[in-house]
Amino acid sequence: MNDDNQRPPNTRAAAQKVPAKPLPRPQDPIEQEFWNRCQDGHLYFQRCGNCGTFRHLPRYMCAKCGSPEYSWERSTGKGTLFSWTVTHQALHPAFAEDLPFIAAVVELEEGVRMATRLIDCDPDTLELDLPVELDFELISAEFRLPVFRLDANRHEKG
Ligand SMILES: [Zn+2]
Repeated sequence: MNDDNQRPPNTRAAAQKVPAKPLPRPQDPIEQEFWNRCQDGHLYFQRCGNCGTFRHLPRYMCAKCGSPEYSWERSTGKGTLFSWTVTHQALHPAFAEDLPFIAAVVELEEGVRMATRLIDCDPDTLELDLPVELDFELISAEFRLPVFRLDANRHEKG
């Protein structure tokens, strides 16, 4: 008889293992292209071939002019903190070790906003519009997730 099977399910050995973080599962080739491009350590956004407007999330048509023409342009990775919240509860067990973490919206120099995480900073020191810069976290053996950190070269407020 296996003693482990006599225990309540949430106390069994299998329940104590931290599961892997879920990876994006794109439903659309254009979204897959966005994630694929992140894997070389750079961030790319679509730019309208007609009016030049950047866009994110990935989509087939420019929201400004309706053109289906676009190219993928490499982002500078520089932006500002548009909004954030400090997460103290893991809604998926893979994130329990990260608590507390900062879920943020960053506005990039290209003008697009992106939901992301802000890493390696004290939540109590955050302010709107703080300069941030791109980084990547390896969340599995082969998957890079774009995240942001406070810009090391930012000027302190006087
Ligand atoms: Zn356009």
